[in-house]
Amino acid sequence: MDTESLPWWQTLTSREIAARAGRGAVAILPLSAIEQHGPHLPLETDHRIGLGLLGAAHARLGEEPARLILPPMCVATSNEHTGFPGTLTLRPETALDTLRDLGHSVASSGFRRLLLVNSHGGNTAICDLAALELRQQQGLLVAKHHYFLQPLPDDLGIPAREQRHGLHGGQIETAMMLALAPDRVHLDAAANTASLGETLADTLEHLEPEGRVAFAWMARDLNPAGVVGNAGAATEKLGRALVAHYAESLAAAIRDTAGFDLGQLAP
Ligand SMILES: [Zn+2]
Repeated sequence: MDTESLPWWQTLTSREIAARAGRGAVAILPLSAIEQHGPHLPLETDHRIGLGLLGAAHARLGEEPARLILPPMCVATSNEHTGFPGTLTLRPETALDTLRDLGHSVASSGFRRLLLVNSHGGNTAICDLAALELRQQQGLLVAKHHYFLQPLPDDLGIPAREQRHGLHGGQIETAMMLALAPDRVHLDAAANTASLGETLADTLEHLEPEGRVAFAWMARDLNPAGVVGNAGAATEKLGRALVAHYAESLAAAIRDTAGFDLGQLAP
């Protein structure tokens, strides 16, 4: 998908931005990461996936609802991936300050609706903190869409083990990259990599890397390779189905953020 044709905030004039704000447009902030993704995927994986899903969601929507996409924040909180060359990260305080400042800029341009489109697991905490603060201090509606938290239909055939443990660089991310940026995937280096989470599931009741009782982890805790999951099982066909599925969910999030009656929020 050619991302040039997306409705980028920065391509408009100040006057045009004011007019969109007056129409109640949704400001969309893509958030991702530049971080190690093992030997088979590039550092930009989360960024490419985020823009790919936005492009596919945009294609599903017509002219309405009015929306603008802010310049992507593609370096955020990747502290769990430090120790591997190539990972870029902001300290959580810096990332939160950046989100806060961008939110203030959006609000002072006259917008009341902001949608955070996040494609990196490590950013969920700053999204929650920034969203509430912008609601409290700016009266903004801040909605959050994290593709990786959306449920997957059974007919995609992704094993439960992979969905639970293939958290980073596994079948799902690799498949979407095969669909979105095949030239950047080194499929010959894609492996089936076990996660500490699977070992824990044999001995502990509920404690796991992600779930109802979770612990903070470094990528190298899950596997010294820095990735987990069955990347070798990824196919372009699965990637296209995943992009379509998540894009549908993202298009709904954009429509809902636009359709939300702001009068329902307390003054
Ligand atoms: Zn990723």
